[in-house]
Amino acid sequence: MVEDQIKRRGIIDKRVLAAMEEIPRHEFVEEGLKGVAYQDGPLPIGMDQTISQPYIVALMSELLDVSEEDKVLEVGTGSGYQAAVISRFAMSVVTVERIPELYKKAKKTLRKLGYNNITVVLADGSIGYREYAPYNRIIVTAASPFVPDELIEQLTDPGKIVIPVGGMFTQQLVVLKKEAGKVIKTDSIGVRFVPLKGRKGWENGA
Ligand code: SAM
Repeated sequence: MVEDQIKRRGIIDKRVLAAMEEIPRHEFVEEGLKGVAYQDGPLPIGMDQTISQPYIVALMSELLDVSEEDKVLEVGTGSGYQAAVISRFAMSVVTVERIPELYKKAKKTLRKLGYNNITVVLADGSIGYREYAPYNRIIVTAASPFVPDELIEQLTDPGKIVIPVGGMFTQQLVVLKKEAGKVIKTDSIGVRFVPLKGRKGWENGA
């Protein structure tokens, strides 16, 4: 997976490559899908949600540019896999999920695998998670119609957000860099994420 799908597409961050080589992705997917856990695409995790394609996990982790002193917020825990990857090179990760079944399952998986610097929270992450703010890095792994103000407010200065922004079906992966009170936006690749629901997400949310 790492050689064929990730390095070949240009990911060079050694910490990301090592984390994805070591983390057992099959532990984050359903029993019947363990045999295809390392394939080049997203997979269903129940409740109409997905674990992202390995390359997208690697790209977002590299773009987030995390250091060992960083506190990271992830919006969209899903299976917990992206949080597990980031936790390998962050000080701590707070990951927020709105669907109780996925929250419980991810919490159980992460506990079983021994991750002790990840806090899994059941909440509407479209407004961030104020209790543990501010965060040095914020990653959103669901499609957002816009960048919620709350995320920018809960970000340190300097700080960085990686978030897919656009329509319900296709989005642009965007990197927002906060520096000296200014926010600079850079576009990365086109992506397809499931929608961010909730107060600052798409309608009919949490
Ligand atoms: N990062 C995940 C992983 O590694 O498995 C994949 C995330 S999946 C593509 C998107 C997740 O975002 C879903 O589990 C969905 O329930 C969650 N989500 C959508 N809107 C949310 C919200 N407002 N707050 C928290 N989680 C949300």
